[in-house]
Amino acid sequence: MAKKLLGGASKEDPTWLAEVTYRFAFDAVYRPLPPDANAARSRLESGNRAFAALLDRMTTSPPAKLNIAVDPHDVGLLPGRSAAPKQQPFAAVVGCADARVPVELIFSEGPNDLFVVRVAGNGLGDDVTASLSYAVDHLKDSLRTIVVLGHSGCGAVSAAVDVYLELLSQQNTCRS
Ligand SMILES: [Zn+2]
Repeated sequence: MAKKLLGGASKEDPTWLAEVTYRFAFDAVYRPLPPDANAARSRLESGNRAFAALLDRMTTSPPAKLNIAVDPHDVGLLPGRSAAPKQQPFAAVVGCADARVPVELIFSEGPNDLFVVRVAGNGLGDDVTASLSYAVDHLKDSLRTIVVLGHSGCGAVSAAVDVYLELLSQQNTCRS
């Protein structure tokens, strides 16, 4: 996907555009919660395909568009009400803190769809595990699946592997 972009139109090409619109509207089409884990995975895969397709169409004009309908109730934009909306994500996602991997965007999801825990290198430390435990214990009415989302070119994982290999190298040097 990215290679295609880099090999295509130049950055100065005015037709090289894509637009993602989060459309907050009270008439937004309601997307029901997936009934089970397989349906949740299918929705995530479908959303990711839509995002990837958007990038593949970037060289066309008019701009490629991806519209994500958002119910304003999901962010508490209720006229005359101050109560927070009920949290009801259908998936918990453990993602890397890497700024290039915005979780909701790459799955074409909006607010209140995903319970996202991000940490550099997707490490399952106590804080991450506790957050996931919270989701499983308190959001079970809506939660259908847990996703561990890796990505290519992860600097945190590369750094961790480098540290491990360096320690291994030092141990081997001490033994010889
Ligand atoms: Zn990463």
